[in-house]
Amino acid sequence: MLKETDNEIYNLIQEEKDRQDYELNMIPSENYCSKEVLEASGSVLNNKYAEGYPKKRYYQGNRVVDEVETIAIERAKKLFGAEYANVQPLSGSGANMAAYFALLEHGDKIMGMELSQGGHLTHGSPVNFSGKLYNFVSYGVDEKTGLLDMEKVRELAIKEKPKMIVAGYTAYPRTVDFKKFSEIAQEVGAYLMADVSHIAGLIVGGVHNSPVPYADIVTTTTHKTLRGPRSALILCKEKYGKAVDKAVFPGLQGGPHEHIIAAKAVAFKEAMSNDFKKYAEQTIKNAQTLAKTLMDSGVKLVSDGTDNHLLLIDLIKTEFVGKIGVGKEYAVALEDAGIITNANTVPYDPSTPFKPSGIRLGTPTLTTRGFKEEEMIKVGNWMIEVLKNPEDSEMKERIRNEVKELCKKFNPNF
Ligand SMILES: *Cc1c(COP(=O)(O)O)cnc(C)c1O
Repeated sequence: MLKETDNEIYNLIQEEKDRQDYELNMIPSENYCSKEVLEASGSVLNNKYAEGYPKKRYYQGNRVVDEVETIAIERAKKLFGAEYANVQPLSGSGANMAAYFALLEHGDKIMGMELSQGGHLTHGSPVNFSGKLYNFVSYGVDEKTGLLDMEKVRELAIKEKPKMIVAGYTAYPRTVDFKKFSEIAQEVGAYLMADVSHIAGLIVGGVHNSPVPYADIVTTTTHKTLRGPRSALILCKEKYGKAVDKAVFPGLQGGPHEHIIAAKAVAFKEAMSNDFKKYAEQTIKNAQTLAKTLMDSGVKLVSDGTDNHLLLIDLIKTEFVGKIGVGKEYAVALEDAGIITNANTVPYDPSTPFKPSGIRLGTPTLTTRGFKEEEMIKVGNWMIEVLKNPEDSEMKERIRNEVKELCKKFNPNF
């Protein structure tokens, strides 16, 4: 119908679909959700106002959405093994804000990872509400290894005595030891918050340890490795449930997006399947195959590899590049060849976030469309060609066509 009534937007949606079909989408925070998730998120549930919670609404007519939201809550709890779930947060940033509101007072001290080392804006960046409303102290990774040094994290926690420690990152390619974090939090009397936005799908797929038994509160987006709609979720111990609910509504949000809550329920059910377990396993295998292919050709990866879905290329320490602040230029060159990544700071980047020295990429989307190790080696070799000669237009055009041919064999099944 849109085709007839609003050709302009219709055509752009088709154009974007083609782009998603025929380019290698390797932004590690993206994924292709199923047709069924899209179906639920485009449903008439969009039309209902439901401020409040199931059976405790401010408006009438919530008979059906009460059931939808209750199913979403129950599935979320089952999927993650959590005591309590709030499925109303609209996005990851808002979920984090609600988590802070639930457990802290403005001005309280929180310990989070520095943005430029792999943390998130909402973990204390001065340009974000988190850095403005709370007193953040930052930890980072070890300069030599690129790994979290848990002894240093502990020392900082003992020195600073934060009220909360945040674990969970946007650009950390290694396993996070949530048990160790909880021991440190307990030692200093802090809450532990885990923000598993990136790795939620790996956790429920059983290929990354879960923070749920250890953390007081867990936040996550639902659209990254979890492969659901663009949204978020808060899990917590039963005793914090009331505070979390109040923080989300009326503390922060108005009416919940019940169509998206339905789509989350669909995604949670999908994530309980055996297929999803295989997906999570393959996502990591693919990332490790790509890492090996790149490293064998002289590409320097932060931490020299990956345990998860994500890789971070250090262009300064990649000998055949060896330049500071060129992440964007190289990401653009890769895009010319049909390979979509993002420029990102590397730990201890001597340049700025506007001119970062790294490239962040990952395998969730390619794995969803069915790529396995064999395809990842191809992708790695194309990337190396581009990284070695970022200005060779003829080569980039050739690769762009080869990418398209490969993509045709792996339909994302929208
Ligand atoms: C993506 C992400 C968020 C924010 O999610 P939005 O939905 O973009 O607001 C928060 N924390 C981490 C660790 C993330 O990776």
